[in-house]
Amino acid sequence: MSESKSNASAVVSYSAHATVASIAMHSAPVNALSKALRVGLIDSINKALADEDVKVIVLSSELPLFSAGADISEFSGGDLSPMLPEVLDVIEQSTKPVIAVVNGNAFGGGLELALACHYRISHAANKVGLPEVHLGILPGAGGTQRLPRLADAKTALDMIVSGAPTKVTKLPKVFDVIVDTPQELEQAAKAFADNIVNENLPAKRVCDIDLSFDDKTKALFSEYAKGVALKTKGYFAPGHCVKAVESAYTLDFKSGLQREAELFMECMKTPQARAQQHFFFAERAASHVSGISNDLKARDVNKVAVIGAGTMGGGIAMNFANVGIPVVILELKQEALDKGLALIRRNYENSAKKGKLSSDQVEQRMALLTGTTSYDDLSDVDLVIEAVFEKMSVKKEVFGALDKVCKSGAILASNTSTLDLDEIASSVSRPQDVIGLHFFSPANVMKLLEIVRGKQTADDVIKTAMKLAKTIRKVGVLVGVCFGFVGNRMIEPYGREANRLMLEGASPEQVDRVIGQFGLPMGPFTMGDMAGLDIGFFVRESRRDFISHDPSYCIVADKLVAQGRNGLKAGKGAYLYEAGSRKPIPDPEVLEIAKQEAARLGIVQREISDQEILERCIYPLINEGADILKEGIAAKSSDIDVIYVYGYGFPVFRGGPMKYADEIGLDVIRDRLNHYKNELGEYGQHWFEPSSLLEELANEGKSFSSLT
Ligand code: NAD
Repeated sequence: MSESKSNASAVVSYSAHATVASIAMHSAPVNALSKALRVGLIDSINKALADEDVKVIVLSSELPLFSAGADISEFSGGDLSPMLPEVLDVIEQSTKPVIAVVNGNAFGGGLELALACHYRISHAANKVGLPEVHLGILPGAGGTQRLPRLADAKTALDMIVSGAPTKVTKLPKVFDVIVDTPQELEQAAKAFADNIVNENLPAKRVCDIDLSFDDKTKALFSEYAKGVALKTKGYFAPGHCVKAVESAYTLDFKSGLQREAELFMECMKTPQARAQQHFFFAERAASHVSGISNDLKARDVNKVAVIGAGTMGGGIAMNFANVGIPVVILELKQEALDKGLALIRRNYENSAKKGKLSSDQVEQRMALLTGTTSYDDLSDVDLVIEAVFEKMSVKKEVFGALDKVCKSGAILASNTSTLDLDEIASSVSRPQDVIGLHFFSPANVMKLLEIVRGKQTADDVIKTAMKLAKTIRKVGVLVGVCFGFVGNRMIEPYGREANRLMLEGASPEQVDRVIGQFGLPMGPFTMGDMAGLDIGFFVRESRRDFISHDPSYCIVADKLVAQGRNGLKAGKGAYLYEAGSRKPIPDPEVLEIAKQEAARLGIVQREISDQEILERCIYPLINEGADILKEGIAAKSSDIDVIYVYGYGFPVFRGGPMKYADEIGLDVIRDRLNHYKNELGEYGQHWFEPSSLLEELANEGKSFSSLT
């Protein structure tokens, strides 16, 4: 037996009883459509066709799901023949009817496999989907041609353009039978197969269905394409998905498949596809921490305490209540506690008003949250997350108190954004149990969790934190201790440049427009106003020694704060805001302040190009990322990308800042940093020195991703 044949039989089994042939996929964990599985499918179909007794073929899965689609390990290439479209053609052309028993999720190629069969049956709780668009591509095994033939244009477009899972009950034309429960499926499949044999029903080929491109359908596609262009700016694949589905209406089936293949290849060649696929792997890689044994056991976390019920504490507590973990919230004063708990309730009730929670669920979650003003109530918790004021003395006091009451083995975490975790850990007798859990605001919404490893943090504490991130549906990324950790440390030069550009003559709206067009959800000035300009001011106050040599450093922001222009909450910051509105309105007064400060500092204002704005905001951020990698604060460049996408809304179609740099070329980034270093006088000399790691990689023609 050849190797591919023996591999195939290990993942696909074949049996025939009387008139029914059964092909069952069992390639754990997700029936990825690997080469072995593809070979197994073709072999099994051929066996069934060769057996004269067989009249019908049942394709099913022995795993809890049908198939999650393509085998991602094949993305790197190799001998992949037979490819999936070829396999699906063999199935579709089978002269004996093939029934797909879609017992669980069928995604991507998994759903395309079911669509190539002649009949499909499933159960009501099941979901299927074509998520390829998230990888910057489109379904490339006939999905764009077969789905509209079975469903309708709008359903096919919605599923393929959004990539979202869809309940099979929403697809009555795709599934011939939808039983109520998974338990009924086997019996229903048997009855269905018997009926096909008894009634001598034909192999109903989807490819034989003719679609008409009438005026109504034409109008639908033209409207849909316009909407997609607006809603998915920056992404390449969604527009191509529309074109591929449209070709199911304008071309015959075979030509439609060819068109789908062409469009697929066009997507594959785009930087967006490279970026989105990079990000797909980056997210998965973030959860793998090298150097920590797989066998190491995580600690149990069944009860949590949160210290401080302010902006962050409340949101952090909600994350645990949302997944059924009880939380004790500690505040110094009853009043602050009541206020914090009332705010949590209001947040839940708002979700209930939007239909996201039932009122019972609101009560269940609130019942998991208890308040206290006494540390004695924390003696049985497994994890404490401190979210009090950002002041070292306060943090140390809290950790000292925790050290006295918490049980042995309890994890003591801080949500500090900027303070030295190792110094905090020095205030307890068990520094190995101390870790940073840096949530992003709003903590109940933002998916990122920077997990900060201190000098002495124990491996099983890190393992527990990484696991916990998943439990509370966050994306955990391990980072080391430094000012601002990864995310906020890199955002610092970005904010600094945005402010300096204003002094040099750019307006906040120009800078924000350029960054918006690049793909971030908002520019630095809108972001600053939303966060509160006073917050940035306090951070600058805490590190004047680092910036005092530069009199221009965020000077306009300092002036705005001095005038009480603290941002959105004050109705004015870098912009003006009408009462109750979050819409930034440009304010000539701000430009005037910038003009005066520029004159005072001897900076000649000029017109600044959009390209300069983009380079000066983004390249120093990347440069800082290079230093972070050099210092080992982040283990891999893809971790930084994950932090930026989930914590700062960096566009996925650019893959994150480090992937973006790799795409542009590190030599280009280095050269442009040097250009500004020379162009901007003393300011440039100080802030635009390329990182030695960037320099080294650029000289060797390498990328950041080559480091891992
Ligand atoms: P906040 O001022 O809204 O809340 C702090 C709360 O802690 C207040 O309710 C206060 O009463 C309480 N508190 C103060 N001292 C206490 C003590 N000794 N014991 C018990 N409770 C005490 O502050 P916040 O914005 O929630 O920030 C909390 C922490 O989270 C800070 O370390 C901050 O750097 C960090 N953080 C904030 C953000 C953000 O965007 N706000 C984001 C990430 C991290």
